[in-house]
Amino acid sequence: MKKEEKVICETCGNENKEIFSAETNQAYGTATDVIKVGKNMYSYSHYGSNFDLMKHFIYKKSGIKLGVLCDKCLSEAKSKGLAKEDVKFNYFG
Ligand SMILES: [Zn+2]
Repeated sequence: MKKEEKVICETCGNENKEIFSAETNQAYGTATDVIKVGKNMYSYSHYGSNFDLMKHFIYKKSGIKLGVLCDKCLSEAKSKGLAKEDVKFNYFG
């Protein structure tokens, strides 16, 4: 039997049960990675997230931290205009 693993959102600390493995950091509702490129922050969402296959620009003011991010934090930031979808992003591109 698979050992139970959890994925924890770096921003709000919410725990989510993992659906894949400890290495992938993907769980239902928590399958987004936030990374920094130069001065800019981006998030990439994967299977398990409501934002699957989407990329977002993350504004520093959002308070979002690098690493694992949950859907709740991402949708909150979006509703405040502190995260913006990169509509030109092609996941498979
Ligand atoms: Zn969160």
